[in-house]
Amino acid sequence: MSATDLPDSFVSARTLTPAADAVWFVFDGHRIVLTDDRTLPTGPALPMVDVVPLGTLDGTPVFAAGLDGDVPAGFASNPLRANFGTLSDAQMGVAGYAAQLVDFIRTHRYCGRCATPLLESGHERSRTCPKCGLTVYPRVAPVAMVLIRRGEGAATELLLARGPQFAPGMYSALAGFVEPSETLEQAAHREVREEVGVTITGLTYALSQPWPFPHSLMMGFDALYAGGKIVPQPGEIEDARWFPVTELPLVPPPFSIARQLIDLAVERALNGAVDGSGTPPDMA
Ligand SMILES: [Zn+2]
Repeated sequence: MSATDLPDSFVSARTLTPAADAVWFVFDGHRIVLTDDRTLPTGPALPMVDVVPLGTLDGTPVFAAGLDGDVPAGFASNPLRANFGTLSDAQMGVAGYAAQLVDFIRTHRYCGRCATPLLESGHERSRTCPKCGLTVYPRVAPVAMVLIRRGEGAATELLLARGPQFAPGMYSALAGFVEPSETLEQAAHREVREEVGVTITGLTYALSQPWPFPHSLMMGFDALYAGGKIVPQPGEIEDARWFPVTELPLVPPPFSIARQLIDLAVERALNGAVDGSGTPPDMA
């Protein structure tokens, strides 16, 4: 698992009795509310709305909720993603789940078809309209992420890019939302073409990661450069260039899928090609 997956020690349950030792994931907007000691609140210690039973984590009941009103004394809120390393990986995994379910309730109070207040369906995590029967589900937005490489061994280069919103000096793999009716593969090829103007081959699925900021599912691919000159997409890509694996810039933190793709590519380059495919078939 990574710090954004549901951990194996978590068991989902839609009905739970709030116990005194229950752990609460409480959100003030997109900010999580922690005690002043930066731990998760236990027991119903805060004024709450939109309570969602989540299940158990290592046998302890866990709930999600929205904060009702202001953050009381003894507690503080901060953006969820600021808590990697403060909360455990397992707690972060459940926190991402909790954040998405609370946000789902907040943004789906009424039926989008007939405006009747929605109710819990009683199955899955969906909500249903009692008047017209429309059922809605928590949103998961698929994102195709592509790390492009060329060359072999220690001479391997990675195509990394940066968006205007990135931390100064940081570069990452390319990524974009999948559009309706696209396959993941089509989305990957389109994003690469749009964002940097090059073509790729040998697209290979590597790994996936839920990214609850706010509700993405990142699907990571490895790809080989096929041809074309880098042309950054105006407004989206501030800079894109080839970096030797031995001289990488600042890259995303280890808990991100982008970093895991980069680490895999570096490992492949420096410790021997995994599949000997450093050169694209159509350029060999
Ligand atoms: Zn309806």
